[in-house]
Amino acid sequence: MDYFIQNITELIKSLYVDERCVKCNNICCAKLFQQNFKNWTSGNNDIDKIIQDTQLLDHSQYARYALEWIPFDRFCNIKCIVKDEFGRVYIANWIDGRINNLDNKNKNWIRKDQNMLVVLKYFDYSKDGILRLIKKITGFYKVYGVSQDSETKNYIMVQDDTCEKCNYICNVTHFQRNFKNWTSGNDDIDRLIHNTQLSSHRNYQISKALEWIPYDRLYDIKWIAKDKVYRANWIDGYINKWDNENQNWKRKDQNILP
Ligand SMILES: [Zn+2]
Ligand SMILES: [Zn+2]
Ligand SMILES: [Zn+2]
Repeated sequence: MDYFIQNITELIKSLYVDERCVKCNNICCAKLFQQNFKNWTSGNNDIDKIIQDTQLLDHSQYARYALEWIPFDRFCNIKCIVKDEFGRVYIANWIDGRINNLDNKNKNWIRKDQNMLVVLKYFDYSKDGILRLIKKITGFYKVYGVSQDSETKNYIMVQDDTCEKCNYICNVTHFQRNFKNWTSGNDDIDRLIHNTQLSSHRNYQISKALEWIPYDRLYDIKWIAKDKVYRANWIDGYINKWDNENQNWKRKDQNILP
């Protein structure tokens, strides 16, 4: 019996030791990621390697710097926000949410922010595309992982919904989320307006952002000159700053002749 118990103890010990990372002598994220390598593939060796390398470097309990492979069906409400010469950008809800920490008893992840808003950036699978990806990963803002559009087979970077320049949700983020809700009907005009909005990160820059104003937001339209200039009252007024409480723009000078 003693012999049996001793054997069992040894067995448990060996299993326990086996769970620990040889590098940090702990039950760390790298260890759990490594045990999961067999459960996923991006379908591309280079991309698998990039993701695995970031995972093997993370000996913390929080996986803040590791990338995940995120199956495309873990996103919902996918909406295009930009479609221009630089590629397509979507926003979507990530059903599972980000990893918050390691549950080392159950060998699983504890996640947070279920259905959080993320930005999906399509990138070309090419040497350049991969290099850009690596550069982004080592940048200062959060990339959660990589996914693949199940229809087009394009690879996607899954990023935080914050501005890349400011590293927080700035005016550009708010303008971008609204791109899908309007169009002038002319691609060149849309692009011109987009560009002015995409360079209005801070409030002092916002006066340079152009808006698409539907004709029905103007009234009392008067023809004032022969060169087809009209005066009108603008019902909404101009954008002053973002109002976090109402999740909308705070405007000024409603109904004042522009
Ligand atoms: Zn470790
Ligand atoms: Zn655009
Ligand atoms: Zn910004």
